Amino acid sequence: MGPVVAIHAGAGDRGAALLEQEKRYRDALLRALGEARASVEGGGGAVQAVQAAIVVMESFELFNAGRGSALCADGSVEMSAALMRSVDGAAGAVAAVRHTENPILGAAVVMDSPQVLVVGEAADALAERAGFPQRPTSYFVTDRQRARLQAAGAGRDHATVGAVCVDGDGRLAAGTSTGGIRSQPPGRVGDTPVIGAGTWADPRVAVSCTGDGEAFIRVGVGRYIGALVEHGVPVSEASERALAGVGQLGAGGGLIAVDRRGEVAMPFVTEVLPRGVWRAGEPPAVWVAD
Ligand code: ASP
Repeated sequence: MGPVVAIHAGAGDRGAALLEQEKRYRDALLRALGEARASVEGGGGAVQAVQAAIVVMESFELFNAGRGSALCADGSVEMSAALMRSVDGAAGAVAAVRHTENPILGAAVVMDSPQVLVVGEAADALAERAGFPQRPTSYFVTDRQRARLQAAGAGRDHATVGAVCVDGDGRLAAGTSTGGIRSQPPGRVGDTPVIGAGTWADPRVAVSCTGDGEAFIRVGVGRYIGALVEHGVPVSEASERALAGVGQLGAGGGLIAVDRRGEVAMPFVTEVLPRGVWRAGEPPAVWVAD
């Protein structure tokens, strides 16, 4: 079986902004899939493909990750990201970083260290020591997000980004990156960097989530799907069951998952989940406002 990559750009509403910018969203998703494809075709594995896709989406200012992240209540930006691979179960995450241009690359540094989760200034410093660019706050804070904070106050600003991949050797990886939820109190961390909640990869399935992070943590969505698949539940049913658990807590969102045979599930209970899939030998497919 050839490699399969799936990506998402956050569960959310079919708002006017999304419809107006549909083509830009579509192009960004296609670029992300294109980079992931170039990575695997260039000999990279599942981890590199996931990273490549997420770096593109973090750099696209309409997504809530990296540049263009949702703002905290005080107007500051705090980003989180996580990465996990199946080969050895290694995982790495950063939370509440403020300067690392691509938080997913910070997560990759942590993944190759003895730690699993590093937060705040120390996480930025770790990424900087590894050679990854640091940016001033002004790079991340866009006029669009400033206006949204002022206009709407607290709100579910999804558009978190994520990617999952099974490569040609059957290795899996998952990654997720976010600016969190608009108007969150500084210091609040959602499910994205919590391994087993918003991000998960094992030898059978890789998962990346988006939505009301507190509920995804309480359900342990990623690990739950992993356990169901381990016990023979198809990835689509496992994903639906995990999302139903989130629903029972009065919360919502969506997720993407791929199993080792390349089966993809992308359930969501919000109006939209901009997303895409690329399978070796096929053209990429993306959905923005369906
Ligand atoms: N799950 C993210 C969080 O709770 C938000 C999102 O998916 O948009 O921080």
